[in-house]
Amino acid sequence: MQLIDGKKIANELQEEIKQQVASLQGRKPGLAFILVGDNPASQSYVRSKKKACAATGIASTLIELPASTTQAHLIEQIHLLNQDPGIDGILVQLPLPAHIDEKRITAAIDPKKDVDGFHPINVGKMLLGEEDGFLPCTPHGVQILLKKSHIETAGKHVVIVGRSNIVGKPLAAILMQKKAGCNSTVTVAHSQSQHLLDLTRSADILIAAIGKAHFITKEMVREGCVVIDVGINRTQDGKIVGDVDFKQVAPLTSFITPVPGGVGPMTIALLLQNTLLSYHRANRSSHEL
Ligand code: NAP
Repeated sequence: MQLIDGKKIANELQEEIKQQVASLQGRKPGLAFILVGDNPASQSYVRSKKKACAATGIASTLIELPASTTQAHLIEQIHLLNQDPGIDGILVQLPLPAHIDEKRITAAIDPKKDVDGFHPINVGKMLLGEEDGFLPCTPHGVQILLKKSHIETAGKHVVIVGRSNIVGKPLAAILMQKKAGCNSTVTVAHSQSQHLLDLTRSADILIAAIGKAHFITKEMVREGCVVIDVGINRTQDGKIVGDVDFKQVAPLTSFITPVPGGVGPMTIALLLQNTLLSYHRANRSSHEL
């Protein structure tokens, strides 16, 4: 069994980004965070992302709004950032309070600054294999982890458990893509899937994105399988664990990601990469004007 060290791979990626940012003349790339309410998990995610910006030289701004903020006010803030030439990326930390429609908020972000890759235009571009959008950070991070670990995806059977819009579905779209060279045969399972055990045992690469601690047990994994654990679950004693029962499953696998230290750090690194990409696109188009 080989451990996929997401932290190390993410650090290498961040180091490359830092060097690229340092070599830029004039203004640095800018990323704006909007945090609505006081959800402790969201506050902690934004803190980590801001810290990563500082470490790589990306300028970041945090707009903190109370939980009572109206949808109209939030959209106004997004429009201001859309027009701000110093801002290359806008990230509205989810989840939002129940009175705000997340779909409307995502759609209000300029697709050219949608570094989270959740805007319908970017989702469409991803599905079409067009390269001028943004790929969502967590699924893209999984693809990079596989690539950097030299795990062949072409022709392999990838089974993803979970079909959310932010992880499972985009991951399927990325891994089946011909253009990016992934070329996997993808099965997406969810809570209504029958014969889940047969599906997961047929995987060459099994990806868990369920949100249930230790859901994937050793019975569900074929020997020699690659296992990627996207899950982040907080136990009652405050520990972070994945969707895979790591202790049981790891000895069976050829490669496995730990939690923490697997997919999580990649998400942040890909957010920085998208911000730098957006900066370059904005500069290119302003020079072309
Ligand atoms: P989500 O929106 O709750 O989706 C969970 C998916 O799992 C759903 O498709 C659900 O099926 C499926 N599922 C639930 N119970 C199941 C069962 N018994 N059998 C088969 N499928 C089942 O969660 P998410 O946002 O995708 O997140 C998944 C996990 O990844 C969470 O732990 C989250 O914290 C973590 N995450 C990590 C990162 C990172 O940076 N590492 C980023 C995002 C998310 P239905 O569709 O049928 O309900």
